[in-house]
Amino acid sequence: MEFSSRDRQKHWRLAGDRREQYPHSLQFYLEPPTESISLVEFESLAVDRLKLLKVVENLGVSYVRGTDAYKSKLEGELRKLKFPYRALAEDDYEARRKDHISHFILRLAYCQSEELRRWFLQQEMDLFRYRFNELTGGLMQKFLEHVNLSFEAIDEDLKNELANELSVSTPGFNLSKVKEQMFYKVGLADAVDLFRARRVYIKDGFAYVPFKEIDVLVLNNYRTKLSKALALTARSLPSIQSDERLQPLLNHLSHSYVGPDYSIQKNTGKISLDQIDALSVKSFPICMRQLHRALRDNHHLRHGGRMQYGLFLKGIGLTLEQALEFWKKEFIRGKVDADKFDKGYAYSIRHSYGKEGRRTDYTPYCCMKIIMSNPPSQGDFHGCPFRHSDPELLKQKLQSYKISPSGITQILELVKGMHYQLACQKYFELTHDVDDIGFSLNHPNQYFTESQKLLSGGRELKKEFNNSGNFQQKNNSQESINSSSTPTSSNTKADTELEGLEAYFTED
Ligand code: SF4
Repeated sequence: MEFSSRDRQKHWRLAGDRREQYPHSLQFYLEPPTESISLVEFESLAVDRLKLLKVVENLGVSYVRGTDAYKSKLEGELRKLKFPYRALAEDDYEARRKDHISHFILRLAYCQSEELRRWFLQQEMDLFRYRFNELTGGLMQKFLEHVNLSFEAIDEDLKNELANELSVSTPGFNLSKVKEQMFYKVGLADAVDLFRARRVYIKDGFAYVPFKEIDVLVLNNYRTKLSKALALTARSLPSIQSDERLQPLLNHLSHSYVGPDYSIQKNTGKISLDQIDALSVKSFPICMRQLHRALRDNHHLRHGGRMQYGLFLKGIGLTLEQALEFWKKEFIRGKVDADKFDKGYAYSIRHSYGKEGRRTDYTPYCCMKIIMSNPPSQGDFHGCPFRHSDPELLKQKLQSYKISPSGITQILELVKGMHYQLACQKYFELTHDVDDIGFSLNHPNQYFTESQKLLSGGRELKKEFNNSGNFQQKNNSQESINSSSTPTSSNTKADTELEGLEAYFTED
């Protein structure tokens, strides 16, 4: 079957047949999609899922999972993005299809490294946990049968016989609660976590799991399946990398940035060079503050630092003339003489402003590019300090920035959990004395813009958590993770179609 986004009529006719394809609102995503879709739809589905997973990540840190606030925020986002949110809704073929295809696209994008796989797995697990727990008992049962996970419920006679043992071995269960709840007899291998945490009664190689803990078994099973699937998808990377339509898109997605590129600034030329020292303290994210300090101290930055910081400064509004003056003044205070600067460094600055070579107007790096690519070596100052600094050094840096001990603890906790952008959001809140940052941080220039808005009173911080962040779909891809700094042009053509998606997920 084949349809394009422009062929909606045909699609609707086919949709009736396809309802059977998604009998449940919840999926284990065992079968890859087989239809052909346009590149435009491919990107749009992927971007929406990415937004959803970013929200799942944010909520997981900001709220206790499973609380009413957590659930209502997540449901709100699922509704907004048109993913399945009501388990009982029968007529949500489009939402289920979106859920299915978008999961597989991000699986492709996020299988590319261990770190990406871990992030994807974590968010997908959280999303699945929420959805599974939202199912009614009957739907849970149906879903378990559908994915061949039907656990055997013990009969009343056996339950009465084991009642004492079950109540003693199952935390939170007295005799009357044991009578009320259904218990399942499960092989030990399926209940390892519960067994380790001493939450179930074990007898003759079987665990007796109460209904309320069944989600642990299902999640374990899902985790195993998804981890394996990600590893297998990673093996098909060579075939993906040879597809010139897909590769830039997937790299773009795995940088997980879909917001403005900060290439055009309303305030170009409105920042004077004298302001930069003060701005670096007040409104620069820690990565740029670190680069600025290193430049002032050493009168030099190596290539990675010059690119990261130079493009950031361009994004906040420095003109080419200002940039040339800024870098030259600093470099000639070090080991570089004016002649060498004019012949070498000045060229690359003009180049980054699109005035030399291929005349490409380079855009500032987003957080994920900084976090995921080109890690700093000895003597480098680029990168993301939350990702690339030793925790002890990061702690000292934060202390020197006068962050409170409790604030430092919170930041280091987020870093430990690999939530680098959330750690940066916390740093923003602490340095700007606000309770809730009110946006989802994805870009150093976004940090600067939001900081300036706040400091100039131009923005009222929302007290409520705002999931929408600054996401904006854009068609031109951000730079490739492997490219030095050459932005890719648009890879989406409305009439180009991707065929045989399943080919990318085939096990070898
Ligand atoms: Fe810079 Fe982004 Fe890291 Fe913050 S999270 S320090 S803005 S790279």
